[in-house]
This record gives sequence, structure tokens and C-alpha cells, in this order.
Amino acid sequence: MKTFTNSNARDLQQAVTLVQQTHRDGKAASFVGGGSDLLGLVKERLVAPDVLVNLKTIKGLDQVTPAAGGVNIGGLITLDTLSHNPVIRRDYAVLAEAAETVATPQIRNVGTLAGNVNQRPWCWYFRNGFPCFKNGGNTCFSFGGENQFHAIFGGGPSYIVHPSDTAVALVALEAKFRIVGPSGERLLPAADFFALPQQNPARENVLGPEEILAEVQLPSARPATRSTYHKIMDREAWTHAVVSAAIVLEMEKDVCRSARIVLGGVAPIPWRLPEVERMLAGQRVTEALAARAAETALEGAKPLAKNAYKVPLTKGVVRRTLLDLASRA
Ligand SMILES: Cc1cc2nc3c(=O)[nH]c(=O)nc-3n(C[C@H](O)[C@H](O)[C@H](O)COP(=O)(O)OP(=O)(O)OC[C@H]3O[C@@H](n4cnc5c(N)ncnc54)[C@H](O)[C@@H]3O)c2cc1C
Repeated sequence: MKTFTNSNARDLQQAVTLVQQTHRDGKAASFVGGGSDLLGLVKERLVAPDVLVNLKTIKGLDQVTPAAGGVNIGGLITLDTLSHNPVIRRDYAVLAEAAETVATPQIRNVGTLAGNVNQRPWCWYFRNGFPCFKNGGNTCFSFGGENQFHAIFGGGPSYIVHPSDTAVALVALEAKFRIVGPSGERLLPAADFFALPQQNPARENVLGPEEILAEVQLPSARPATRSTYHKIMDREAWTHAVVSAAIVLEMEKDVCRSARIVLGGVAPIPWRLPEVERMLAGQRVTEALAARAAETALEGAKPLAKNAYKVPLTKGVVRRTLLDLASRA
């Protein structure tokens, strides 16, 4: 493993400046939150920073604070703290539930929300150092290889699936991301943060190398809104979603006024289902409607040679999660 130095950032501006200076010196730098993903990448020699800019030393970026009817969540909040926050549990259950399904208690205790959203893919070809798109090459080995866990939507030329559970919930909640970088701040809808491989197969989002995901902003929770996260894994714990669904329903008695449905584990980005959302608006969520929604959800899926099982699995997740959420009092 290459030797690196650790620089504790005092504030966001200093963190950006430290990375800029390192780049000007012709060296590599990485921002680090909990380090639970980054240090693994360093050990596997997939990234080789000369300087780690530690964001956890920035005060106040680990809080949930009320703002404009909604809440602002500091990017450095740990997944454990986030999942236990009473406001998040009450008004944004889908996010609390997504955070508490991540990995293990140990990882949730150190892993941050921003780090979770920015973690790199867990495709075995990438993680094992194959010269794929993510490692600077020009091939996706999964396409003709071991693609059991890869994309059925939005793939090509890379077929990774986005690994973050919280990202799926944040898109369903129509969160905004406050990003701080060399040219100041920008506010981006979560859905516009994630990028398909057609845009740049080496990356999963539009964050620049000197930019920090500083804060996540959630809009006010509409009255009578309920939400949930359902995750399917290939073992009981300690792993990423094979398929997941984040669903937010605004209900009036038993009628769905509006719906937001986003899938995880099936595409290189959190995969929103606008057509299904339109189908549900103004309807009672019956068994028949949930079954039709599940069929529509999977229209256009393009499974690879070894992951066609994801199609019926995802249909089941959409149907069951919808019925479960709609029937809650
Ligand atoms: C065994 C195992 C199982 C796992 N299972 C799951 C799972 O089920 N679901 C899931 O979602 N994840 C899972 N993960 C991934 C885990 O959740 C992430 O490692 C963790 O959330 C990353 O958070 P961190 O703060 O430690 O990030 P770090 O390791 O510090 O950073 C991760 C990446 O994000 C960048 N980064 C960090 N903070 C910022 C910031 N504020 N702005 C810009 N860039 C930033 C870093 O440069 C790095 O590239 C698993 C990991 C392991 C090892």
C-alpha cells in the first residue's frame, strides 16, 4: 500500500483548498468520511491518494436540523445516527429504514451518509482490479462474464448497479444535495446527481474531484405521506441489495394521491419509475393494481445472461411493498 498523509480539515473551504493544493503539486488526494469504503480501495490499490482530506473533523456536519419545513442532514452524519433520528424515523421512514439495512452495525457506526452515497461500485471485476471502465480501461467484463448481480436497466457500456441503499431512498424523497467546491456551492436534485454510464462509464455521479457533498436537504413531508424501504439480499445481513424498492405514498383514506417509486440493485443509478407513479395517482391500491404496477415496472428491462431472475424478483418486491405500504393505517 502506498504511503499517504492525513490532513484534518477545519471547515469545508479548507478541505477544498487542501485537495486543490495537492492536485497543483501533481499528487492525488481523496476526501474521506468514515473511510470504510475508501481504505478498502486503497488497500486493494484501486486508488492511490498521497493525501487523505479528513472531513470528519469539520464540526456541525453530522446533524439533522429543521429547515424551511423540511430538514437538512449534514453529509458527515453516521448511518447509525441517521437511522435512529426520531424526525427521520417519523417523517422520512424510507431513509431511516434504508440506512439501517446497510452492511453491519460496525460499518453503520463509522460510515457517513455522504460516503454511502459516494461509495464506489462493488462489481467483482472492478474490486479485483480488472482493467474495466471503472479502473480506467475500456471494457465491461460483466457483460459477457459473471453478471448475476448486474444491471437489468440503464446498462451500457458499464453494467454495474449503484450500491447505495440511502441513495435510493433520497431519490424517492426528492432530496437535494448541497455541493461545495472550488467555484462555490451548488444545489442539485438527488436524481440529477447520479449519472448513467452512457454519460461517463468511469463514474457514477457528476461530483467533481474537488467537490464535497456537504449536506442533504429533504423537503417538508406532505401530510398523510407514508414511506418504506424493502431490500432483498442473497444472505440475511452484511451485504448490498440484490433488489430494493423505496416507495413514498401520499394517501387520502385508501386512495393514493401521489406515489414515488425508486428501485435499487437493478441499474447503475437509483431507478425511478415515473410511469408506475402516474398509474397509481388517484387510485385505490388493490391487488390487481399492484400487480399491474409490478408488470409495468419491469417493462423495458434488459437482463443479461445470468440475471434474468431479477425480473420476477423485482416484480414481487414492487407488488408486495406497494400493498404493504398502502394497507398501513
Ligand atoms: C462488508 C460491507 C458491506 C456493505 N454493505 C452495504 C450495504 O448493504 N448497503 C450500502 O449502501 N453500502 C454497503 N456497504 C458500503 C458502506 O456502506 C460504505 O463503505 C459506507 O457507507 C461509506 O461511508 P464512509 O463514510 O465510510 O465513506 P468513505 O470510505 O470515507 O468514502 C467513500 C467514498 O466517498 C467519497 N466521499 C466520502 N465523503 C464524501 C463527501 N462528503 N463528499 C464527497 N465525497 C465523499 C470518498 O472519497 C470515497 O471515494 C458495505 C461495505 C462493506 C465493507
